[in-house]
Amino acid sequence: MATTVVPAGRSARRAAAEDEKLVFETTEGIEPVASFDEMGLKDGVLRGIYNYGFEKPSAIQQRALMPIIKGRDVIAQAQSGTGKTSMIALTVCQLVDTASREIQALILSPTRELAEQTQRVITAIGENINIQVHACIGGKSVGEDIRKLENGVHVVSGTPGRVCDMIKRRSLRTRAIRVLVLDESDEMLSRGFKDQIYDVYRYLPPELQVVLISATLPNEILEMTGKFMTDPVKILVKRDELTLEGIKQFFVAVEKEDWKFETLTDLYDTLTITQAVIFCNTKRKVDWLTAKMVEFNFTVSSMHGDMPQRERDAIMSNFRLGETRVLITTDVWARGLDVQQVSLVINYDLPNNRELYIHRIGRSGRFGRKGVAINFVKSDDIRILRDIEQYYSTQIDEMPMNIGDLI
Ligand code: ADP
Ligand code: MG
Repeated sequence: MATTVVPAGRSARRAAAEDEKLVFETTEGIEPVASFDEMGLKDGVLRGIYNYGFEKPSAIQQRALMPIIKGRDVIAQAQSGTGKTSMIALTVCQLVDTASREIQALILSPTRELAEQTQRVITAIGENINIQVHACIGGKSVGEDIRKLENGVHVVSGTPGRVCDMIKRRSLRTRAIRVLVLDESDEMLSRGFKDQIYDVYRYLPPELQVVLISATLPNEILEMTGKFMTDPVKILVKRDELTLEGIKQFFVAVEKEDWKFETLTDLYDTLTITQAVIFCNTKRKVDWLTAKMVEFNFTVSSMHGDMPQRERDAIMSNFRLGETRVLITTDVWARGLDVQQVSLVINYDLPNNRELYIHRIGRSGRFGRKGVAINFVKSDDIRILRDIEQYYSTQIDEMPMNIGDLI
């Protein structure tokens, strides 16, 4: 951080006070509720949760579920894989009135795959209450979207572009929407998406409940929430508590870019112990690395945002089923996607920012499972890695020989 010279006297006090305003804290007096039974949930929803395999609410669910159900605006932060998105699925099941055929909840996510995943979880948890959820995402038939929406659904889980398009065509009617959820909200409110989100927001009713969730919520994002949230309940995590004990982090010093490939092939047996995700920083690099792995007779699959949606869907489905074990991808995969069998993440390239690091390594170690993250670092990357290590007060050691034993 740059040091600023603060003049003495009144302006110094003002500077200190302004600094203080930037410290966001968890709202006081939030009582955790230790069981789903005590939450006053609809019988069908409760059965849905237990049938889905949840026995007990996670820490974030114990704290954030009730304020959301009670209609408060909520900002909920918790480590990756601790049940934030599932909590949203559960709360919308509780909040919607399925006797009506109007859209009552809108959930926006940064990627099509995440919006679809959320749609599936809501459908599963809500099976007893006959909830109708539509995934409104780019790359799918507009005609089909219109037909589904006209049939009447209770919840829309979508990506901003297509949702906005459907609103403007008047196929997605917003008048009964009571709650807007931004999953991965720091990403949704960052440069790339912000305008689209505000565009959607303009069409929503004034007495709207807003819920923001993410594992990472940098200050500049928290600062802007005052514009569209009312007295929100905040549940926040300090950045030195954001990495998970269960995810061991390592680095391999590769010196030069050219050495990465051989390092990866040396690790191939380790990659296939369960399932692994390999991150590159560009689509071109994903294509290049995939082709090169195939050329050397390694079985890999790959996915990025320039592929036709049909292909993306097929790749996702095979990976979810465990039919493919190694997936080479971009940051399209960094956030939210939940495949429990993923126990290894490789940063073939280091991510471009600190938040992405947390999200990428969080693809492993879902809900308390063990995970391993391995970072390939060139000489001039070491500085970036040390910065990440320090920023999150975490430990990234040199990769040991027995790495396979840790997975
Ligand atoms: P996050 O959004 O915080 O990354 P998810 O909601 O995607 O986390 O949940 C991560 C995994 O944990 C999912 O596989 C989900 O089914 C599981 N999970 C979530 N809540 C519970 C719970 N209360 N009990 C058991 N498993 C849970
Ligand atoms: Mg999530």
